[in-house]
Amino acid sequence: MKIEHEFKLLINGEAVTTESTLPVLNPATEEVIAYIPNASEHDLNEAVKAARSSFSGWVATKIEERDELLSKLGEVIYANREELATLLTLEMGKPQTAALREIMGAVHWLKEVSKQRLKREVIEETEEHFVERYHTPLGVVGAIVPWNFPVTIAMMKIAPALLAGNTVIVKPSPYTPLTTLKIGEIASGILPKGVLNVVSGSDELGRWITEHPDVNKVSFTGSTPTGKKVMQSAATNLKRVTLELGGNDAAILLPDVNPKGMAKRLFWAAFQNTGQVCVATKRMYVHEDIYDEFLAELVNYAKTVKVGDGTDPNTEIGPVQNKMQYDKVIELIEDTKRIGARIVQGGEVEDQPGYFIPVTIVDNPPEDSRVVVEEAFGPILPVMKYRDYDDVIARVNKSNSGLGGSVWGKDIELAQTIAERLETGTVWINEVAVISPHFPFGGHKESGLGIENSQDGLYEYTNSKTIMINKKKMY
Ligand code: NDP
Repeated sequence: MKIEHEFKLLINGEAVTTESTLPVLNPATEEVIAYIPNASEHDLNEAVKAARSSFSGWVATKIEERDELLSKLGEVIYANREELATLLTLEMGKPQTAALREIMGAVHWLKEVSKQRLKREVIEETEEHFVERYHTPLGVVGAIVPWNFPVTIAMMKIAPALLAGNTVIVKPSPYTPLTTLKIGEIASGILPKGVLNVVSGSDELGRWITEHPDVNKVSFTGSTPTGKKVMQSAATNLKRVTLELGGNDAAILLPDVNPKGMAKRLFWAAFQNTGQVCVATKRMYVHEDIYDEFLAELVNYAKTVKVGDGTDPNTEIGPVQNKMQYDKVIELIEDTKRIGARIVQGGEVEDQPGYFIPVTIVDNPPEDSRVVVEEAFGPILPVMKYRDYDDVIARVNKSNSGLGGSVWGKDIELAQTIAERLETGTVWINEVAVISPHFPFGGHKESGLGIENSQDGLYEYTNSKTIMINKKKMY
């Protein structure tokens, strides 16, 4: 199905066409559904110029006014939610209900972040001195967004950056640019010219943003290797960076987990969004007392889940989003077979149009196998057996990733003791992958740098500034 719409860049409040275009595929059919503008370096420079020149006006507006405009943007996205969700399903592959949830997530972020404020903090007040700390915006922010949650992740960056008084250039992934370009159209009627610019294009565009001398900060979500490149480029003008990178989150199941009751919940911990979630469960460690029963329940549940085209209302899991990721997951399945690990569910990919991979579950593969060590970012899950808590904690912490993790069981005290020893930015107990505008979210180790969301996340879009007044010495 071809989308009858001409997608354009948003630069300085204007809809801009480009000389060349790029095709966008539906991952469920591999058909071209639309063409998008392929921004040149000149287009990016124009976007940076617009963001720079609108900065002084935007920063001079009261934060309450910026709050109001962002809330209005949220309302208009809400009013267009069905159309945006349809677009998101077509470009990303996720089922319609999940696409609608994602659009609602973006609305929620705009609404909740808008309530935050840049607080002034009195550090010292004596007869001699008055010392106060402020937070001032950085200038032009480049927001580089991946393809797994293109809309929510974009808003996780745009909302705090704009509220804090910065102007923004957002670059969606070339795999999933359509909904963001459409939101750019909507935003142009609400935000002042140049405050939010949307540019789409090919591989070089991200690099141009990170290297641009007039961009003051890059907020990036994507892979760890690319995150390292972003940090390197950012060094040229000491850009601030926030990096939300890959994870290899473990779930640890204590022996008192009820296998039948928990299998469904833990299945979705791993396979929601076709496993393409930075904080999806990517390794599952199950105590030996319940291992066999749990694995059987997990496989039983997996057999009931429908994988298919996201536009089919019965679909629960869509295709993998793109060919690069599809090939990567298939390679992991092949490697799992090569080493002789037992695949207890899925593992056979049918030759058909679309990047479909069946839900694949691996029974107790070796700890050093690729399926355990590497982040699959797709519908394959290794389930491992453990006996001893110190041992499982060591196995989990051995990873270079440190994004999130979860502990499951009735013994909350034990779960909390384990949670405190996991080297990750977030640990959920009897919960998983809950991300909120109000919770600090960031990775340890190679999973990232800095914090998104919460008051800390807002401050990542500011400089800290201290003003000290000498009250006694009068000249
Ligand atoms: P990348 O990290 O390569 O790309 C993410 C975004 O960064 C894209 O918009 C990309 O644009 C852009 N980009 C690429 N190179 C640069 C650069 N040098 N400077 C600035 N921006 C750049 O992710 P992939 O899409 O290639 O996915 C690879 C892996 O990343 C996945 O297998 C998964 O493990 C992980 N991933 C993690 C996500 C998360 O939520 N943490 C989300 C998505 C992927 P372009 O495509 O045009 O190069």
